[in-house]
Amino acid sequence: MGIDKQVIDATERNRQKLEKFEAFNEKVKVGILGGTFDPIHYAHLATAEFIRDKYKLDYMFFIPTGNPPHKLGIRTDKYDRYNMVLLSTASNDRFIALDLEVKRKKSTYTVDTLKDLTEKYPNADLYFITGADAICEVDTWKDTAENFMLATFIAATRPGISLLKAQEKIEQLERKYDTNIISVYVPSLDISSTYIREQLEVGKTVRYLIPENVDIYINKKGLYK
Ligand code: ATP
Ligand code: MG
Repeated sequence: MGIDKQVIDATERNRQKLEKFEAFNEKVKVGILGGTFDPIHYAHLATAEFIRDKYKLDYMFFIPTGNPPHKLGIRTDKYDRYNMVLLSTASNDRFIALDLEVKRKKSTYTVDTLKDLTEKYPNADLYFITGADAICEVDTWKDTAENFMLATFIAATRPGISLLKAQEKIEQLERKYDTNIISVYVPSLDISSTYIREQLEVGKTVRYLIPENVDIYINKKGLYK
């Protein structure tokens, strides 16, 4: 099947999953993994699945950023990044891709996304997942205190980021914002989108680091050359 058809099918599959989720009115636990996903890779997917299973979350939302205020120089079209997330999550009934940030015209902030989700899905308990690198920067985000009120933050270990340093930062955040942050060891996969982009730029293989259909999508669209 051609990759364009795969994107169409993944879009339809995602729509069905979201419809089913929205029809469910009882309490649900929803994890959120935000990111630029430039491109999405297996460490994102494995971390999300590990945490979903460990904390018995009913769903995991993957939310690619639109125009992130802190990450300048993203060259990849936001819809390409979103399509790659769609392709990667299609086969997991509990993974849902959301386009609310890519659709936003202005800069996207986590706090706006969390507010939107809380309003739209009052039955959902939100768990915001970050890697150990991202949790260290969380207090530079807009409205940090409000973010902590809207969702429970879960910080996942990430290779290359000292857990001790992250742990210090986590405790400091907990004191400052009077909140609880869950930190969790996830099986290490030393993959980053930066590494994937660098490999692709010099024509090297990224096979087995990203889903096969994402690799095909990248080639077809000529991304990261
Ligand atoms: P880049 O290199 O472009 O920054 P990235 O691999 O860090 O890309 P992002 O889209 O920036 O991917 O990250 C989205 C989220 O996934 C962040 O919370 C990040 O900490 C987390 N994450 C990314 N890679 C890993 C990994 N290998 N292990 C654990 N968490 C990860
Ligand atoms: Mg990153």
